[in-house]
Amino acid sequence: MIDGKSLALKLREGIAQEVSLLEKTTGIKPGLAAVLVGDDPASAVYVRNKKIACEKAGLYPEEHLLPASTTQDTLLALIAQLNADPKIHGILVQLPLPAHIESKAILQAVSPEKDADGFHPVNVGRLVEGDPVFVPCTPKGVIHMIDSTGLDISGKQAVVIGRSNIVGKPVAMLLLHRHATVTICHSRTKDLPSVVREADIVIAAIGKPFFVKADMVKERAVVIDVGINRLDNGKLAGDVDFDRVKERAGWLTPVPGGVGPMTIAMLLQNTLESAKRFAEQ
Ligand code: NDP
Repeated sequence: MIDGKSLALKLREGIAQEVSLLEKTTGIKPGLAAVLVGDDPASAVYVRNKKIACEKAGLYPEEHLLPASTTQDTLLALIAQLNADPKIHGILVQLPLPAHIESKAILQAVSPEKDADGFHPVNVGRLVEGDPVFVPCTPKGVIHMIDSTGLDISGKQAVVIGRSNIVGKPVAMLLLHRHATVTICHSRTKDLPSVVREADIVIAAIGKPFFVKADMVKERAVVIDVGINRLDNGKLAGDVDFDRVKERAGWLTPVPGGVGPMTIAMLLQNTLESAKRFAEQ
């Protein structure tokens, strides 16, 4: 098992040391502003967890909790204010936004120099070119978890299930830059199980509980489960049938306690790196 919780804890300890050193040497404390619009309970939990993680690592957290009725113009004005605020080095807009707000317009309004989630088109382009500044947090965490197994990604067959802009596509791009041979599967993929069976590395980012079954997984494959699904009994489950796949996989991440904690650690790391760039300027 790849223990995301303890990997993330280690990362966060290192980040805390670097934050304190940066503050001592430059007077700059990395600042992260989280913007939440509406009252989606899961999003509220994510934002709260990110704030707690910031505080623990010594970053300066700022929370902007806005009602669901917030207009696009009001939100754009807040983003402009955060872009100009020297205390803030990372801005994260919690998705999904209410339907009346155009997410694309909001994500494009965040300064590419403070885009802690790496969703701005400029940062997407830099990632595709292989010269990223902000790497999206979940994909960055996924690569760190694969690296923690000691597996050399170069030359391996990697299958990413899911092609979203926030997980599937950037993960595939990062694996490609690490010289994996990458296949991206989605809802129109024909005979998906036989494609997945070829993979040395499987990334499941679908949003369907227990989708990846043991007979779809090659023996000793590294399986990273990004999915977070709330079951009818209230429990969380990933996209992978953990109990059965663990008998075949070489390495497997649990849910909860897998990719989730890594995502938060990477958000802190992105904010720290951004603050360092500001300090250099
Ligand atoms: P999206 O809903 O944006 O994308 C899901 C992808 O899965 C789509 O590309 C879709 O294909 C594909 N898909 C859906 N059903 C099937 C199917 N039956 N067969 C093959 N492919 C299918 O989800 P996200 O990428 O945003 O998130 C994926 C999961 O990861 C969710 O459970 C989410 O909660 C979780 N997540 C976890 C994070 C963490 O920190 N651990 C962070 C972000 C997300 P198509 O494009 O054809 O529709």
